[in-house]
Amino acid sequence: MKYGFLLDMDGVIYRGNRVIPGAAAFVQRLRDSGTRFLFLTNNSQRTRRDVAMKLCRMGIDAIDRDIFTCAMATARFVAAQKPNGTAYVIGEGGLLSALHTNGYSVVEDNPDFVIIGEGRTMTFEMIEKAVRMVSSGSRLIATNMDPNCPTEAGPRPGCGAIVAMIEKATGKQAFSLGKPSPIMMRAARKQLGLSSEETIMVGDTMDTDILGGVGLGYRTILVMSGGTKLGDLGDYAFSPDMVVDSVADIPDNIAFPDGPNPGLSQNGTAIPVEQQRSYPVESVVMPS
Ligand SMILES: [Mg+2]
Repeated sequence: MKYGFLLDMDGVIYRGNRVIPGAAAFVQRLRDSGTRFLFLTNNSQRTRRDVAMKLCRMGIDAIDRDIFTCAMATARFVAAQKPNGTAYVIGEGGLLSALHTNGYSVVEDNPDFVIIGEGRTMTFEMIEKAVRMVSSGSRLIATNMDPNCPTEAGPRPGCGAIVAMIEKATGKQAFSLGKPSPIMMRAARKQLGLSSEETIMVGDTMDTDILGGVGLGYRTILVMSGGTKLGDLGDYAFSPDMVVDSVADIPDNIAFPDGPNPGLSQNGTAIPVEQQRSYPVESVVMPS
């Protein structure tokens, strides 16, 4: 069976500004073998060109069309819901550029949508404005609901944290497009031109990458090079198909067990979460 990959970036390809050992060689292996892949990110700050440049500077061969961001998913979604609409935006270049590309105008009053991405330029006045717009009927959209973003100095508040302020103040719930949203994950899979069974999601975060992949019936590979530790797996009622230390450990001739997901017992019923805490995760690590 042929496979293609959706690759999360932060924690999978790099951590902060440092490339993960073996990631460049893994991406080259995919290119050399003609395996389809897309880099998938919940960061809406950068344009796809910025992201491709960041990867190139790290020694990873990438161009614009290798990148799929939650800003793109968001802009395409609002453009499909309301073509040529208007948006008030709390966010940066990647989100603004994606909206303009999809025919959206950025306005300061009475927008169709209030759209929140991450960034460091947000002010309290902007939040206040957003709250008033949403209270008056503008629809609230989040590029993603990640609570925080890892940085070398420690976590900083993510898009989800900013959105939470507006949700709390207005009593309205945002609609989020980033991972694990099926809207972003399905759009990326379609861009690869593969079926669900042929799509492998590789990520370091259970709540976004793995949850989104499991929900859409993709194969999932959790890497330990990012924010998740083996001991955390017991906290979830779902499991990835494979756990590896890093992308460098993904075998060349990838093969998934035909049997039930490791989160399931042999007769296909769910293992209680309590028992999963001691589940031998090593048993699903594929030999390299
Ligand atoms: Mg990640």
